[in-house]
Amino acid sequence: MTARANANVFERLGVRTIINAHTTATRLSGGIMRPEVADAMREATQWCVDMATLEGRACEVIARHTGAEAGYVTSGAAAALLLGTAACVTGLDPSKMNRLPDTTGMKNEVVVARSQRNFYDHAVRTAGVTLVEVGISDRYSGAGVRDTEAWEIAAAITERTAAVLYVAGADSRPPLSEVVAAAHAKGVAVLVDAAAQLPPVANLRRFVAEGADLVCFSGGKALGGPQASGILCGKRDLVMAAALQHLDQDIYWEQWNPPAALFDKTRIPGLPQHGIGRPAKVGKEAIVGLLTALELFVQEGDEARRLRWTQQMESLLAALDGVPHATLALARDRRRHGLPTVALTLDEAAAGMTALDLVRRLQDGEPSVHANPSRVHDGVVVFSPVALKPGEELTIAARVRAELGGR
Ligand SMILES: *Cc1c(COP(=O)(O)O)cnc(C)c1O
Repeated sequence: MTARANANVFERLGVRTIINAHTTATRLSGGIMRPEVADAMREATQWCVDMATLEGRACEVIARHTGAEAGYVTSGAAAALLLGTAACVTGLDPSKMNRLPDTTGMKNEVVVARSQRNFYDHAVRTAGVTLVEVGISDRYSGAGVRDTEAWEIAAAITERTAAVLYVAGADSRPPLSEVVAAAHAKGVAVLVDAAAQLPPVANLRRFVAEGADLVCFSGGKALGGPQASGILCGKRDLVMAAALQHLDQDIYWEQWNPPAALFDKTRIPGLPQHGIGRPAKVGKEAIVGLLTALELFVQEGDEARRLRWTQQMESLLAALDGVPHATLALARDRRRHGLPTVALTLDEAAAGMTALDLVRRLQDGEPSVHANPSRVHDGVVVFSPVALKPGEELTIAARVRAELGGR
C-alpha cells in the first residue's frame, strides 16, 4: 500500500487509477460523478427509509421526466431488462412471480429482430424466456438493403409471446412505431433497451411517446448517476409487476402500506416472496444518486453539455498539434447524437506501430490512458470526453507525444 499522505482511496487500496478517454464503459468503471451526486449519496447513507416509499417517490420523479405512467430505479439498464421481461411474463400474478425463472405454462418467448441481438439480452433470458429471432441482417452483410421488417415481427408473435424486445440505436430497424403497432395489434408489450440513448434529453420521453410499454436506461453512462444504476419506466401495471419482483416484501399483508404512485394493493391477492430481481438489489444511495443525476442531466441540457465536451476536445486537439505520424480531427459520432470526439489517424508505417499498438502503449504506460479502439482496423484511435475530468486532455496529449515523439 502507498504511504503517500494525500493518496486517494484507490491508491490506498493499491489500485492505480486510469484516464478514461474510451467512454463510460462498465469495464473502465463508468464515468466521473458530479460532486452534487456524490454528496447526495453520502448524505443518504446517514438515514434509513422505507425502500418502497423511496421507490414510490422515484416513480413520480421518473414519470415527470419521461412522460411514462410510472418509473423505477434499478441497478442498471441490464437489471431493468431483466425486471421488465419478468413483468411482461408474470403480469400482476404473484404465484407466477414466485415461480420464475421456471416459466412452464406461461408466455415465455420474446421476439427480437436478428440485427438487434446483443449480449445484454442475457438479462432478458435470465427471466426464463427464449428469444425468437426474426429477419435476416441483409443490410449488415452487404447482401441487400433490407433489415427485419414489422410484418415479420407480427408473424412471429404467437400465444406464447411475452414481449417484443427492441434495442434502440441510431440504425435500429424497423422504426419503433412500426414495431409497437405490430405488437399492440396482438396485445403484446414492447420492451425497449435504450441503455445508451442519452443524451439527448428528449430521448427520456421519445420511446415512451412512440408507444413503448417499458423503456430501460443506464444511469451509469452519460446520465452521470452511480455506475450501477438504471431506470425502468413505462406502463403502470408493468412497472408495478417489476417492483413486486425486486423490492424486499418480507412483511405481513396487513402491514404493507405501499406508495400509491407505484402500487395498487387492490390489484393483487397477496405479496410474492423475494423475486427474480432480488440479486439486482438497489441501495438507497444509488436511488438518491440516480435521481440527483437525472435532475442535473436535464438541467444542464444538450447544448451546454455539447459545448463543454466540444471545448475539451478542441483543447485536446490544440495540445496534440504537430504530433508526428498522425492526422487529427474533431469527429462527431453520428451514432451518439453527434458526440464530439478526437480521431487520431496514425500513419502506421511511419510510426512503426499499429493503431492498436498505440492504444496498448497508452493503456500500459503511466498514467494509463484508455482510448477507444473500435476503429483501430482503420488505423484510427478515438478519444472521447464523456468520462474525462477537466484538464485530463492535457495529460492525454503528453502521453501521446511520449509514444509518438515530438515536442
Ligand atoms: C450499456 C448497455 C446496457 C447495460 O447497461 P447497464 O446500465 O450497464 O446495465 C444494456 N444495453 C445496451 C444496448 C447498452 O449499451
